[in-house]
Amino acid sequence: MYDVIIIGGGIVGTTIARELSRYNNKVLLLEKDIDVSMGATKANSAIVHGGYAESHSTLKGRLCYKGRREFKRLNEELNFGFRETGSLVLSFHDDKEPLEKLMENGIKNGLEDLSIIGTKEIMEIEPNINPNVKYALYCKGAGVCSPYEMAIAMAENAIKNGVELKLENEVLSIEKKDNLFKVETNEDTYCGRYVVNAAGLYSDKISKMVGVDDFEILPRSGEYILFTRGTGEAINSVLFQLPTKFGKGVLVTSTYYGNLLIGPDSNDDVDKDDTSTHVDRISKIYDKASFIYDKIDPKKFIRSFTGIRARSSTDDFIIEETKVKGFINVAGIQSPGLTSSPAIADMVLNILEKSGLELIENPNFDPYRKPIIEKKPLKKFSEIKDKIDLPLGSKGRIVCRCEQVLEKEIVDALHRGIKVKTVDGVKRRTRATMGWCQGDFCKPRVIEIMEKEYGEKIDPKFDIEHSGVNRVQKSELLDYLNGLKEE
Ligand SMILES: Cc1cc2nc3c(=O)[nH]c(=O)nc-3n(C[C@H](O)[C@H](O)[C@H](O)COP(=O)(O)OP(=O)(O)OC[C@H]3O[C@@H](n4cnc5c(N)ncnc54)[C@H](O)[C@@H]3O)c2cc1C
Repeated sequence: MYDVIIIGGGIVGTTIARELSRYNNKVLLLEKDIDVSMGATKANSAIVHGGYAESHSTLKGRLCYKGRREFKRLNEELNFGFRETGSLVLSFHDDKEPLEKLMENGIKNGLEDLSIIGTKEIMEIEPNINPNVKYALYCKGAGVCSPYEMAIAMAENAIKNGVELKLENEVLSIEKKDNLFKVETNEDTYCGRYVVNAAGLYSDKISKMVGVDDFEILPRSGEYILFTRGTGEAINSVLFQLPTKFGKGVLVTSTYYGNLLIGPDSNDDVDKDDTSTHVDRISKIYDKASFIYDKIDPKKFIRSFTGIRARSSTDDFIIEETKVKGFINVAGIQSPGLTSSPAIADMVLNILEKSGLELIENPNFDPYRKPIIEKKPLKKFSEIKDKIDLPLGSKGRIVCRCEQVLEKEIVDALHRGIKVKTVDGVKRRTRATMGWCQGDFCKPRVIEIMEKEYGEKIDPKFDIEHSGVNRVQKSELLDYLNGLKEE
């Protein structure tokens, strides 16, 4: 019997699990997929937002800055990768009013690090962008992080502190009897006093299982283009254009590791699971981003991807104990859900406590988690080439030459309390296969290590089943852009 059963291993579910592991409760985290962080948490802009964009009248407006303020401490404890870069909302018009409105809203949300700056200051921060920019809203403390590493770090640390994680457990039904919830999955049935529904796009379906049907989750997709490592170094902060009713628009940023990232767009006519990308959509993103930064080289494209926002029919976060006592919905967590996640977890713990869950401190709680990899500049090929062809198991052996990932880092990633069943899972932990060749060279080498460490065969097809969606490739984008030029 569990005190709390959390459904959904995205950033929200894993952060709640880790926060609960500070206390002496029996906690179970259920995830339907083969790993944590397989939903919106693995495919988003990875921005730690300022907190000025959402109205103070919304929960998402009030929670964003609260969450943002926790990132520095959390990263010091968990080492998932976070950097304060600052962000700029750029305006190419003489009218400052839209920026002033955003700033006013940010001040209502409690922000103290906002200012409106002019062309000269903007160009000092960002010397490589369109010099026709007139004004910008500058938020000093906004930043970038590695979102899937954050969820993995939360889950690893929660497990270390006593949380049980069960992957490949899809919740199929929930029944409440004698003040206990019986949660049935494809694998087993689990009993718990409280249930936290953090199932992202499917949180409406889970909620309906206990008869709470007062909201729907409406998917809204956003596509992106990611470029090779180093391409992001010409951009110092996160660059937004003025927001529209569909969101914050196409942004230009460097990822935590220095790849240029542009996107997302916005489309409501999608299925919840359709993460394919489309050449016409990503070419429009390329156009919009090129207006801000015209040195984007499409030949340096490495990947396109799609994230699906879990927009609720109330258009706000829904975080509450429902009419079914002990059943807590954490739904509609669209952007800025990643930034807000630490504040969401605090809020959920308060709700649980008010509902009767005793939070007695776990004296053995250890907040620290060592990093798997450290961000370091890539060495010249001539400096590493001797380490690449070393036999399996050799000291200093490099497995992935693009990202210069060591064998010992992959071995470490495989033994941290979560069984990593796919190369994609190794990629999100170590960056192996994430470079220029996208795994052509190192995928079989990663599989060789997984097989040695786990003592079982790894079927590469398993990866394709779990991450093989229809994505636009570089050649298709280049042909399309050339075609447009010729027209
Ligand atoms: C395009 C895009 C851009 C974004 N950009 C940003 C940004 O820059 N900054 C920011 O702060 N936020 C951003 N967000 C929002 C942020 O990504 C999300 O708010 C956050 O990832 C939501 O986390 P989650 O845990 O609620 O959902 P998810 O990560 O989707 O996790 C839900 C989990 O529940 C599991 N699940 C579903 N059904 C079941 C079931 N029946 N049984 C068991 N498990 C189940 C799923 O498999 C999934 O792993 C963006 C989102 C998108 C889509």
